[in-house]
Amino acid sequence: KKELLEQLKGKENVTKSGQKVNVYANIGNLSDVGAVLKNDAGGIGLFRSEFLYLESETFPTEEQQFKVYKQVAENMAGKRVIIRTLDIGADKQAEYFGLDKEENPALGYRAIRICLTRPEIFKTQLRALYRASAYGQIAIMFPMIISVDEVKKIKEMIQVVQEELTEEGVDFRKDVEIGVMIETPAAVMVSHELAKEVDFFSVGTNDLTQYTLAIDRQNQKLEPFYDAHHPAVLSMIRIAAENAHREGKWIGICGELAADLSLTGTFLEMGIDELSVAPGMILPLRKTVRECE
Ligand code: PEP
Ligand code: MG
Repeated sequence: KKELLEQLKGKENVTKSGQKVNVYANIGNLSDVGAVLKNDAGGIGLFRSEFLYLESETFPTEEQQFKVYKQVAENMAGKRVIIRTLDIGADKQAEYFGLDKEENPALGYRAIRICLTRPEIFKTQLRALYRASAYGQIAIMFPMIISVDEVKKIKEMIQVVQEELTEEGVDFRKDVEIGVMIETPAAVMVSHELAKEVDFFSVGTNDLTQYTLAIDRQNQKLEPFYDAHHPAVLSMIRIAAENAHREGKWIGICGELAADLSLTGTFLEMGIDELSVAPGMILPLRKTVRECE
């Protein structure tokens, strides 16, 4: 069986009727890139940049971040690398951020909400990402988005970063794709407007399930109720896909559900353009895609 999976390397991911889909990998660390290459992923669909912050005793500098992003971009040799900006808060805490204890951390001060209110942290990361863009095909995506206004603020910040880098004579790519994670019901409901502002969507089904079903993803007791196959969750994904495509944009899924092989056919039928999974799931998913009509 393993040998059969090995034979898929180098092959296109195409269904029996000729529909193509990108199969990418999720990574949470630089050391995962080896497994991504070994499993012949088409790209990286979710690079969780939090580890840089969580493994550090203090804010990682622009230079430290730049080196890591550059290395991943270079190792992936021109394949798309989607780096998600800082998604800290809630379950992921770092002492030096000085975040207060909160009543409802999952609904709290986290991710893009921190970035937009502490621009110095965000700007450092954006500068590192744009500098690294000169070394491969980096795309940037933003977590926990709920509004078009947030995206406009992000784009203003990007504008400032690009102007600075230009002034400093630093090389970067102007055409870096930017995308938003679709992981709140609000993002789904305004996805027709979000799609006008960005190049792509990536559905974070872990949080989208949590927020759609009002079920804390960390609470073991609620596991029997945490149903990622709930029709409400699947409808959310379908609506986001329709709205992305209406604006000519592409949509991927990077939450755990992307690796649920019982849903691969459903996702392809929705027209999902990319599925991003743990490196060990790349080949089994590619096999399933080829078995789909
Ligand atoms: C998600 O929410 O589905 C996701 C991919 O992000 P994370 O699991 O890191 O919150
Ligand atoms: Mg998430």
